[in-house]
Amino acid sequence: MTEDGAQESTKTRSRDSRRAWIGKSVAWAIVLVGSLLAGYAISGEYLYHGVIGLDSSAFPAGDWVQRNLAPNAPNAVGGAVAAFATLFGIGVAGGCLFAWLRREPAAANVPSGSSARRAFLAGAMAGVGALFAGAVGMLANALFGIGKSGDGWLGVGQQVNSNEGVVKTHPVWEDAWRGARVQAYGRLGRTDWRVSDTVLGAGRLRGDDAWKIVKTAFDRGVNYVDTAPDYSTAGSELAVGRALREIPRDQIFLATKFCTPLGHLPAGTSVARYREVVEESLARLGTDYVDLVHVHSCDETARLMDPNVHEAFDRLKEEGKVRFLGVSTHTPRLVDVATRAIDSGRFDVMMLAYHHGIWPMLPAIIDRAHDEQDMGIVAMKTLKGAKHKNLEGFHDANSYAQAALRWVHENPKVSCAVISFFEMQHVDEYLAASGGRLASTDREVLHRYDQAIVGSYCAPHCGACLSSCPEGVPIHDVLRHRMYFEDYRAERDAMERYAKLPVNASACVGCSAPCLGSCPLGIAIPERTRGAHALLTLGA
Ligand code: SF4
Ligand code: SF4
Repeated sequence: MTEDGAQESTKTRSRDSRRAWIGKSVAWAIVLVGSLLAGYAISGEYLYHGVIGLDSSAFPAGDWVQRNLAPNAPNAVGGAVAAFATLFGIGVAGGCLFAWLRREPAAANVPSGSSARRAFLAGAMAGVGALFAGAVGMLANALFGIGKSGDGWLGVGQQVNSNEGVVKTHPVWEDAWRGARVQAYGRLGRTDWRVSDTVLGAGRLRGDDAWKIVKTAFDRGVNYVDTAPDYSTAGSELAVGRALREIPRDQIFLATKFCTPLGHLPAGTSVARYREVVEESLARLGTDYVDLVHVHSCDETARLMDPNVHEAFDRLKEEGKVRFLGVSTHTPRLVDVATRAIDSGRFDVMMLAYHHGIWPMLPAIIDRAHDEQDMGIVAMKTLKGAKHKNLEGFHDANSYAQAALRWVHENPKVSCAVISFFEMQHVDEYLAASGGRLASTDREVLHRYDQAIVGSYCAPHCGACLSSCPEGVPIHDVLRHRMYFEDYRAERDAMERYAKLPVNASACVGCSAPCLGSCPLGIAIPERTRGAHALLTLGA
């Protein structure tokens, strides 16, 4: 070869190698940027919503995944499964894309096996790179909320775990309460059970040690426990079931609900499914029967009187798996639901939102249920919003919880009061109020509490504002979930519940707010609902 020819050949090789380098860089850039975006938009969204705890049906094959892989998991695991499955897909697609972009014509002097091996290795490396970039995108979305208007799960998670605010019902665990026991039992209507005036509400129990609170309450004379599959996404039933191993089963009146760990069953659910969810509860509770099964948090007469739920109850009762039927309700349609329940004669127990300052019509409903049908009446929401953060000022006064419980115990037609136990202090604090009479100091505490919650307490029975909203926002539910988040400090449960609302408060952003002024309790509805939406959706 001449000198000129050699130089030309060197230049050509250098040009080819520069082109190859540029081509390879472009291919890498396409794969990495594409994977980053796909990871953000697809895997990140699945993970983000999975962490919030949307219903399993919100994800591809979500119901199947939940049922077969993690029936007792605290979240819709379909979100996480979909997130990681799509991430894997991004890795494979990235590797294939890179191999295609970098495909080379077969060279005569290169063995085909070696060329295929090189292509495979390059594709595999690109696949790993794509997987990594996709994971970065996914975490940027779900964990850090980059590109969203609020924090991702990390920011809210820190807030959730920060223990800010007063979590306890009273800031001091007084010595005088220690060792308190149940002092009074009342007849639970036609069930003929004599139940403790204080009922262990198990709604916030979860975790390995929660059962010890239940067991301690049993040891102190509590003989009625109220749980549900959707309390702590099955964690409550598991904790109660663990405690039940420590005490003869027939000494406890055990109530659960017709629902699943992920939410309520709509009217029209099949008889088989209604039966199945009770069987699942029995398995979690480790027992072969429950005393009471409620139509849970019932806000419509169609669900209350669904023939399928009644047929399922009758068959379960014949089989000895349930003993009594109940209904729990605290919604704006409480009057309709409660009236229909009384008229039907089908229900043995009614659990109602009932607390100091409740609207005057409720005692009349309780009288009817008690006098006409001999129904057992269980008061719930006894802490009237449980504005624990507002109780700091009561440090030197009586326990607000005790005053609120004594107020409920004053009504002889109310069999008992359910209240959430989720700290060992509660056993002492609540039972110290058992059998007590309402004192003037209690009335003062209740009055101060009412003053403290003006403008933020949404009454569970009310609903006066609902017709003012053209978007159909369930204002009472939105504010109730905000209450669970801010006041009960049950942030995760609140977000899970909010995520399941068919209509949420996203419509409030930018709305001209015709609802303003419609609340007789003076709540600035648009401000509260917008705040609720920001709080309960990770600021999405
Ligand atoms: S601010 Fe919200 S609740 Fe009020 S009318 Fe508008 S959408 Fe409805
Ligand atoms: S916001 Fe006011 S009017 Fe609306 S349900 Fe609550 S208390 Fe009633």
